[in-house]
Amino acid sequence: SRAEITYFGAGPALLPSDVLETAAQALVNYKDTGLGIAEHSHRSELAATIINEAKADLATYLDIPTADYETIFMQAGGTGEFSASVYNLVGAWVAREHAAVVAELGGADAADEAAVLAALRKRVETGLKLDYIVTGGWSLKAYQEAVRLLGPEYVNLAADARVANGGKFGTIPDQSTWKLSPDAALVYYCDNETVDGVEFPEFPAVLAPKADGTGPIVVADMSSNILSRRIPVSNYSLLFFGAQKNLGSTGVTVAVIRKSLLAPATVQPSPALMRKLGLPIPPIVLQYEIIAKNNSLYNTLSIFDVYIAGLVLKRLLQIFPNKVDGQEAVSKKKADLIYTALESNPAEYKIVPDKSVRSRMNICFRVTKNGAVDESEKAFLKEATAQGLTGLKGHRSVGGIRASNYNSISLEGAEKLAKFIEEFAKA
Ligand code: PMP
Repeated sequence: SRAEITYFGAGPALLPSDVLETAAQALVNYKDTGLGIAEHSHRSELAATIINEAKADLATYLDIPTADYETIFMQAGGTGEFSASVYNLVGAWVAREHAAVVAELGGADAADEAAVLAALRKRVETGLKLDYIVTGGWSLKAYQEAVRLLGPEYVNLAADARVANGGKFGTIPDQSTWKLSPDAALVYYCDNETVDGVEFPEFPAVLAPKADGTGPIVVADMSSNILSRRIPVSNYSLLFFGAQKNLGSTGVTVAVIRKSLLAPATVQPSPALMRKLGLPIPPIVLQYEIIAKNNSLYNTLSIFDVYIAGLVLKRLLQIFPNKVDGQEAVSKKKADLIYTALESNPAEYKIVPDKSVRSRMNICFRVTKNGAVDESEKAFLKEATAQGLTGLKGHRSVGGIRASNYNSISLEGAEKLAKFIEEFAKA
C-alpha cells in the first residue's frame, strides 16, 4: 500500500498523500460545481483564481519581488525551456542592440533602414554570444539545444566540468576559470543536476550583479531543487522549473522572469528583422511576453496541474511559518542523514560527486561492497524494495544508485533509508 512505501524516484516524484486525496476529489466534483477541475474552462473565474493564488503563494514562499518579476505557467517541460530561454533572450539581446544602433545613427526618424540593418548584422556577427556552464547531463542538453537552434558560432561553452575530471561530471569548475563573454545574451547554468547529483552550493559569485545593479543576464534551471532552499531571485533574469519534482504533477512548467525583459523596451524584434539577421523567432507558445500578457492563458493550460501545484504550496506555507527557510533546514537534515550513513561505510559505498558540490536533492552513489558493483547494486535495490524503499535505481545513462530526497520525502523516510544503508553495509 501507499503507506508502506517511500518512493525516491527522480521525477515524477512522490506527492503528499493529502494533496492527492484533495485533488482526486476535485477531479470529480470541484467545489460542488458538479464538474471536475479538469472539465472547467480555463477561461472561467475559478481557473483564474487557481492561477493567481498559485502565483501569489509561490511569491510568498520564495520571496519573489513581484514588482520586478512575472511568473508564468507553461507546458513544454524543462526541455521546452531550454529552447524558450534561447529564443526569448536572443530576441531581447537583438532588441537592445537594435535600439542602440538606431540611437547611434541619429534616432528613429533619421536612421536609414539599410544602415541600421548593416550595423546590426555586424553587432550580431561580432557580439552575439550565449554562455553555458555545463556541470551535468541537463545543462549539457540545454547547451546542445542552443547550438542546434542558433549554430555553434553563437554559443560559448564557458565551462565544462568534465574537462578536469576525467571526462565525467561530478565537480563544478572553479569560477575563476569560466570563460564568460562580454555582454552575453544569457549565462546559463543548472542549479541542481538531477542525473549527476551535483548542486551549486550557492549562487555563483562571479555572476552576481554589480553595485550599480547591472550584471550578466543569468538563467537557471531549478527543476530539481526549487522550493527546497532560499534563492536570491533578484540575481536572475530568468529561472524555470518543471513541476514534477518539488512542486506538483507533470504537465506544467514555471518560468519566473524579470519584468524588464517583457517590457516594451525589449519587446521581441519583428519576425521580419530576425529573418534578415538569420536568427530564429520563438514559436508563439514559447514567447514569454505573449504568455505573460495573457496571465498564462494564451492557450489551454492544464488547470488541474496548476491546482495541484497550488495545493502543494499552500501545504508548505502551512507547515513552515518561516516559508522556504523551514523547508531548507529539513532538506539539509535529511540529506545529512543519508550522506552520513554512506560516509561511515566507505568500503561499501562510494558517493559519486565531489563533496563540495553534493546535491541535497539527488544523492548519487555506487555500492562497492564485495568489489562487484553490479551484483552489489542489484542486491541493494532488491533488498531496499523489499523494505518499501523504492525508486532508487540511478539514471540509465550513469547507473548506480540515486536517492531523490525531494520535499515530499519525510524525515522518517530519510531515516529509514539511512538505517537501511547502514544495515546493508553490515550484513
Ligand atoms: N532540467 C532538469 C534539472 C531535470 O531534472 C529535467 C527532468 N528530469 C529536465 C530539465 C527536463 O524536464 P522535462 O522532462 O520536463 O522536459
